[in-house]
Amino acid sequence: MSGNIIDGKAFAAGLRARVATEVAVFQKGAGVVPGLAVVLVGDDPASQVYVRNKGKAAQACGMTAFDHRLPAESAESDVLELITRLNSDPTVHGILVQLPLPGHLQASRVVEAIDPAKDVDGLHPVNAGRLALGQFAGPDGAIVPCTPLGSLMLLRDRLGSLTGANAVVIGRSILVGLPMARLLIAENCTVTVAHSKTRDLPDVCRGSDILVAAAGRPGLVEGDWVKPGATVIDVGINRVDTPSGSDRPYKLVGDVDFATAFEAAGAITPVPGGVGPMTVACLLANTLTAACRQNGVEAPAWLG
Ligand code: NAP
Repeated sequence: MSGNIIDGKAFAAGLRARVATEVAVFQKGAGVVPGLAVVLVGDDPASQVYVRNKGKAAQACGMTAFDHRLPAESAESDVLELITRLNSDPTVHGILVQLPLPGHLQASRVVEAIDPAKDVDGLHPVNAGRLALGQFAGPDGAIVPCTPLGSLMLLRDRLGSLTGANAVVIGRSILVGLPMARLLIAENCTVTVAHSKTRDLPDVCRGSDILVAAAGRPGLVEGDWVKPGATVIDVGINRVDTPSGSDRPYKLVGDVDFATAFEAAGAITPVPGGVGPMTVACLLANTLTAACRQNGVEAPAWLG
């Protein structure tokens, strides 16, 4: 069997176009332009690229992007003061604090300071709690973290109903693994969450119809871990050095050994060009959802 590639880049482009259309409808109806504030503390080069891309993507679909940069040595009180200001700013509907934060700042305290209604990363305990409770719909539904939401969209698009599928999620982080598992349970999958202490991970993976890898370990999942015909979602983004003399000093690879897994899988996301672009597109969708709810307007049903 030879896998089909799931083109996350193309799907994300379609989602962004849909967000742009929905932004125009919302703006016309409510007279409000959705606003996304992105906060970067420090000058980590990768984070600078991420926040620039997020801001540009927001503008490209008709939103206002607010770019807030704070020096790496900022005190917690400086960051919290900015968040308090953004919470009460009616032109800001979504707030994203780029993680990781410099070591002296506690991410949980910063995230908890964000108004849950504006928490477009879906990391605030109120949103995580609503997700855990399976509270998705309506104005009080969870804002779902972008990467798992985007991964679920790709799975739904490829497989239609996920009911009854055996799913394995490798990773149990608050950002990816846990919300992914919760979403798959809501899709009526039978879910196993694997982690660094899991015994015989290859064997656990071989039982899965859906395999989501979010471990941050380059090439962890080998082809013979993949059940023939399974759908593989590779969330991992890892920088690995390239041989000397290459054009670039590093390349990005996923948590799945693509060459071997491709042969076994029914469908598989590449890295780059799989889940990554979906994360940004879902951030835009979440921002519009937040703007709709804050203005008493029904938000689009992104998952159909
Ligand atoms: P994380 O917080 O470091 O969590 C990694 C998880 O993987 C942990 O639960 C860990 O287990 C587990 N794990 C680590 N090594 C393992 C191994 N050898 N076998 C089985 N499980 C193992 O990372 P994260 O934030 O969830 O991110 C995971 C990956 O996704 C990273 O590569 C990250 O860059 C990528 N990512 C991509 C996007 C995107 O847009 N595509 C977005 C977010 C993250 P323990 O709990 O036991 O330590």
